[in-house]
Amino acid sequence: MTKWVYSFGGGLNEGSAGMRNLLGGKGANLAEMASIGLPVPPGFTITTEVCSAYYDNGNAYPADLAEQVAAALHRVEKSVGLVFGDATAPLLVSVRSGARVSMPGMMDTVLNLGLNDETVEGLAASSKDERFAWDSYRRFIQMYGSVVMGVPHHRFEDLLEQAKHGLGVTDDTAIKASDWREIVKDYKDVVQKETGKPFPNDPQEQLWGAISAVFGSWMNPRAHTYRKLHDIPASWGTAVNVQAMVFGNMGDDCATGVCFTRDPSTGENIFYGEYLVNAQGEDVVAGIRTPQPMSAARATADQSPMEKVLPEAYKELMRVRDILEKHYRDMQDIEFTVQSNVLYMLQTRSGKRTAAAALKIAIDMAQEGLITQEEAIQRVPPGSLDQLLHPTLDPKAEKNLFSRGLPASPGAAAGAIVFTAEEVEDRAAKGEDVILVRIETSPEDVHGMHAARGVLTTRGGMTSHAAVVARGMGRVCVAGAGGITVDYKAQTMTVGNVTLKGGDWITLDGGTGAVYVGKVATIPPTLSGDFSTLMGWADEVRRLRVRANAETPEDAETARRFGAEGIGLSRTEHMFFGPDRIGFVRQMIMSDDPATRKKAIDALLPFQRDDFSQIFRIMSGLPVTIRLLDPPLHEFLPHGEAELEEVATALGQSVESLRARRSALSEANPMLGHRGCRLGITYPEIYAMQVRAIIEAAIAVSKETGQAIVPEIMIPLVGMKTELEVTRKAAEAEVAAVFKEQGTTLDYLIGTMIELPRAAITADQIAEVADFFSFGTNDLTQTTLGLSRDDAGSFLPYYVDHGLLPKDPFVSIDREGVGALVRMGAENGRKTKSNLKLGVCGEHGGDPDSIAFFESVGLDYVSCSPFRVPVARLAAAQAALAMKKEKASS
Ligand code: ADP
Ligand code: MG
Ligand code: MG
Repeated sequence: MTKWVYSFGGGLNEGSAGMRNLLGGKGANLAEMASIGLPVPPGFTITTEVCSAYYDNGNAYPADLAEQVAAALHRVEKSVGLVFGDATAPLLVSVRSGARVSMPGMMDTVLNLGLNDETVEGLAASSKDERFAWDSYRRFIQMYGSVVMGVPHHRFEDLLEQAKHGLGVTDDTAIKASDWREIVKDYKDVVQKETGKPFPNDPQEQLWGAISAVFGSWMNPRAHTYRKLHDIPASWGTAVNVQAMVFGNMGDDCATGVCFTRDPSTGENIFYGEYLVNAQGEDVVAGIRTPQPMSAARATADQSPMEKVLPEAYKELMRVRDILEKHYRDMQDIEFTVQSNVLYMLQTRSGKRTAAAALKIAIDMAQEGLITQEEAIQRVPPGSLDQLLHPTLDPKAEKNLFSRGLPASPGAAAGAIVFTAEEVEDRAAKGEDVILVRIETSPEDVHGMHAARGVLTTRGGMTSHAAVVARGMGRVCVAGAGGITVDYKAQTMTVGNVTLKGGDWITLDGGTGAVYVGKVATIPPTLSGDFSTLMGWADEVRRLRVRANAETPEDAETARRFGAEGIGLSRTEHMFFGPDRIGFVRQMIMSDDPATRKKAIDALLPFQRDDFSQIFRIMSGLPVTIRLLDPPLHEFLPHGEAELEEVATALGQSVESLRARRSALSEANPMLGHRGCRLGITYPEIYAMQVRAIIEAAIAVSKETGQAIVPEIMIPLVGMKTELEVTRKAAEAEVAAVFKEQGTTLDYLIGTMIELPRAAITADQIAEVADFFSFGTNDLTQTTLGLSRDDAGSFLPYYVDHGLLPKDPFVSIDREGVGALVRMGAENGRKTKSNLKLGVCGEHGGDPDSIAFFESVGLDYVSCSPFRVPVARLAAAQAALAMKKEKASS
């Protein structure tokens, strides 16, 4: 015989917290609370298996269910000394749904079930409180009528409002029994009128009606949609809990409340919540009367905290709170009712909390000895640290939404709308707060992005240029806000009939992607001591090293401040856009004879040497990987006529010949074109200059600081061993030349990015000439999926919404495809060279889920934007703990 029904409370607990799958979260925890001696009204749980059986059998219950329910109900009757449906001492119950995870869309709870025209008189007599009995009855008809029978809720509300109006009262507690009798009559008429059926008088019919409504709600459209969105299989099913009623609406020594064992927004160890005297169930959240605070410490003079109003019950609740926290070892979200000064517990579950609260609670609980350090590390979602590192919008501020885009880089920023990077720089230099608004950004805009408070684009995804660069700089960014039309000429941006002009203020919320009109107040981040405590604990357990992607001194400083252990990617092209350099860069590209090119390149050498020296100095001996020039040349080409003329003059050539050269250089598909090592091979002077700058800087800073600097030179976009062979040889020759000139040497590494499928597949060959690999997972994703990251915005969200892809592959690594190539590259590379250093420098290096994958592959380090470094440190620690657990259990 299958056991379909599990009892709890009143001395018989057949379930426990571990049985969540069978009993649902609510049922499992009711049984758990009862079994540790907490005051839980007795009841029983009908299992989730019944739900599955019900649907498998064409909406019919297992044959022996009725019998098991009857037995369990009988046990409840005996335990409380009342009889279900009895005219003198009736047992009333609540019928509550409860899936494994709390799920909106499921049936609302029905309270006071078992009341009818006879039992209500019994309840009135036994409680000696007629008002209470009829108040309970009308509540029951209201809930059952709407939830089970489908009468629109407002039909009851309207009647109640009319009655209150007629009686001249505002508070429902002021309605007398005789008036409730009338209202009940009207309620029943409404049910008859709306459904064509009388309100059921038979308690058994009521009970099964409510049970079936819970199981029925599992397949309703709302629940169905929610499950789809959250990957909850329909096969899980819901449980039904039937529980003896306790009454918070029986007078002024009664109450109902909802609270958290600690403050869920700050994490402070203070009892936090709300309650209402003489009320039932949802009254607290329904806004019928204003709920009151729990603790006196949190109450204002005109409030009536429970601590003062119901001191006995409050004391008992404090005791329960302690027991619950010790038992569950986590902050709990609880629901309770007080009947005649006696406390009853009706629900507990682990409480939802803000990032700040999660951090504080984890650290506090570890220090209180409730949980271990390792558990504390696992309690804080790494991604949530982002919220703690940036200013955020004041939740209390008024907001006027303009549009929405992707939450590309977190934090909040307000400023005047500016449409060009140049103007941003000018205005920022004057101390103005500005937001750069572009359809999309390119490397030319980087200086403007840096000077702006935030960046808004209307095109591009989470790894578009704007998103990647903004994250790197810690600038707020909302990307791909496709609902906004930008008109550069008119200097406007428009959504529907709202148009904002250049100079108007907007506010970006990079954490949600919202764009607001005007200036919304922000609150600054507070990096508590708890933050560094947690980071310290994380560092003790993680295996993966964490580096940062950084090229400016400012970014390098930020990276170190956040605990980066080196730089995993320094993009030299960003250094080429400085106003003092770009002219030489353009001359370098546009000149068609090696001699003039050499001249332009030589002019760039001191700039680069200076760039690298600054970074080496800041990183004081930590490893620094510098990537040689990578992007397609077109990004540096002179655009307008003025720029073209400038370059022509510098080169002593005609504008016409330069125009011809420009069109010769332009490519149909630049991302797959003349870029990366292909540039270094065809224009060897460029890489030679960069290698020289790196080595000269390293020697100089080593001498200056006495620290051994071991530069790591990285060649991008290698697909074949021959490419790395050629570029490596040329680099070594240049290094040797510098050594000879300076009469000294130092250690250095030459390695490559693995960002083309061919490189991953032939990694064993490439490793023969590489000292390290760094997986460039942005390009590797792009090239493996054949998916341009700048253009994917038009269909990728659809793919994710409709389950064709589990996640945006540019945000979280596609383990089966791109991940398999990373694994293959790592394994093949190490087959050739067991000590090959392996890292990752794509955006995935800062994504917790991807980091867990890289841990399993056994990479040496991840490299991410400076502001993601703490996230990566914590994620790496969690990944290491998860691996340890996996190994222990296998
Ligand atoms: P939800 O899942 O929406 O939280 P619950 O099943 O927890 O719904 O019920 C909502 C509220 O109804 C509870 O917080 C409690 O106040 C009240 N309630 C439920 N069962 C009982 C009961 N047996 N006695 C008294 N109140 C109850
Ligand atoms: Mg509840
Ligand atoms: Mg790349």
